[in-house]
Amino acid sequence: MVGSRVSSEKVPWSGRIVAVQPRIRLMRSFDERHHSYQGFVLRIDGTCGGQAGEFLIAVGEGAHEKHRFQAGMELVGQSVPVEDPRKEAAAFYKTSGLKVVKKTEGETPAGPPFLGVPPDLETYRRRGHRRLDARTYEAKCTTCIWGCRMPVEMIVDHWNPSRKQYRFEAFCYGPKSCACYRAGAARKVPGRKGMSHTEEDWVDEDATSHRGPDD
Ligand code: SF4
Repeated sequence: MVGSRVSSEKVPWSGRIVAVQPRIRLMRSFDERHHSYQGFVLRIDGTCGGQAGEFLIAVGEGAHEKHRFQAGMELVGQSVPVEDPRKEAAAFYKTSGLKVVKKTEGETPAGPPFLGVPPDLETYRRRGHRRLDARTYEAKCTTCIWGCRMPVEMIVDHWNPSRKQYRFEAFCYGPKSCACYRAGAARKVPGRKGMSHTEEDWVDEDATSHRGPDD
């Protein structure tokens, strides 16, 4: 994977989209959580700053509305290496000069993983997510439009909100019947004085209870 360099200069890149997933950040404070919907992450197989390989580019929701990104499309653009890699799943953001060189050809496979054009961010918010085992995500879900690897910012002590910890968590917004799905271990959120909160299964059940197994 082509990584970011510490620089605020735009890096030119080009290549084929391998995957499109939502760009959503999660803020946790013990048993509370808040999502920030920021756009989309494009996994590109191509060349970035002269280096060949796969790399992750963050784009805004407006760009997705305009271009309707999906796997198979070929693009060129320019992006800035992310300043704080703890806060972004992508290695590059502030993307400009985006051009579609070639549209996706052929039929979209039925899945899973589910490809095609991802819906808008409001649809992700409405659908809600379930936790997704990190190894399952890496093995089966990195190309699925319903997968999301979120940067997580945790306020450990709400009396001292500057005390934060960071990590990444994977989630699935897809059909509950997906055969690839594995929840993995329950997640623990650190709190003050060594306490921790365990996010139980009912949280996921509650977040997705309005959907049937195949929705
Ligand atoms: S588990 Fe979720 S993210 Fe993974 S392939 Fe199935 S629907 Fe997609």
